[in-house]
Amino acid sequence: MIIIDEERIFKEIQDKNPASVSLNGPDGILPQVQETAIRISKKFGIPAYVLADTTWGTCDLNTNGAKILGSEIQFNIGHTINTESLEKNVVLIDAYDDVEFDSVAKKCIDILKGKTVSLVTDSQHLDQIYKVEKILTEGNITVKIGKGKGQLNDGQVFGCEFYPATSLKKEVDAYVFLGQSNFHAAGIALSTNLPTYVLDPYFNEVREVTEFAQKLRKKATLAIYKASEAKTFGVIVGLKEGQLSKVFALKIKRELEKEGKEVQLFALTDITNDRLRNLKGIDAFVQVACPRISTDNQFDKPVLSSPQANALLKVLRNESIEEYLEIPHWL
Ligand code: SF4
Repeated sequence: MIIIDEERIFKEIQDKNPASVSLNGPDGILPQVQETAIRISKKFGIPAYVLADTTWGTCDLNTNGAKILGSEIQFNIGHTINTESLEKNVVLIDAYDDVEFDSVAKKCIDILKGKTVSLVTDSQHLDQIYKVEKILTEGNITVKIGKGKGQLNDGQVFGCEFYPATSLKKEVDAYVFLGQSNFHAAGIALSTNLPTYVLDPYFNEVREVTEFAQKLRKKATLAIYKASEAKTFGVIVGLKEGQLSKVFALKIKRELEKEGKEVQLFALTDITNDRLRNLKGIDAFVQVACPRISTDNQFDKPVLSSPQANALLKVLRNESIEEYLEIPHWL
């Protein structure tokens, strides 16, 4: 069950006495966010809007939605990082999943006994990491937890940022991800090229995502080679507040032009195949917003992320692109 730190929310409202507030969180916890909004309205008698658009991470808080609504405090729930606020009037609220890992951790011991692993997880299961470390250690697995960096806490990864995992690459045999997210686990496998397992407490199963990650890598690499044959490129800047990379977009544009390509600039909030179908005369795209848009979705034309775009430039210059995804941060 997802537990939202409502005490923190209520205290903030008591202290600041706002006329209205807004709340948002990842899709998976929206039902709990709705319940919290209802409780706020009942307790304080103020409008509490649920911003129901996506919020994929602290890169995508939808602060603009809160500003348009005129809500005086925006509570972004469930993206725990090592700071409580990234912007004035935006408060980051913890939400933890209290599901137990005891049973699935014991299954993991049967598979990885005698090995050295790095434990990693996402925001919702961070509070369980030391408990699982103890179970695995007692089962004769050597456990390491990588140091946090930037916004990341120790042992935490985002979909595009893997410092606690990549820093231990030379010291471990495998990665063990706590939670249900094949998405995060595949990112770890791609950025480290080591076996990666998901400890899923809901299905009570240990599943390896290494092969799934290899398929994503193959697809990403094929897109690079297909894009190398393109004559005209669209370079897309993302309009989500934490994904704006104009400097990199302009750099890629210059570099592609040096290689004789024609480049047109675009800007989009949501980069989807449907939106790109409206754009004519473009053979391939580079999008410098969220790298996982390119690696995890299907598009009619090549749509490269930042690390893929860097690899493309190398292909165009006849250089090797080995290990182009094996970096701690894909932006
Ligand atoms: S993977 Fe995408 S949504 Fe997640 S933190 Fe990175 S840029 Fe943001």
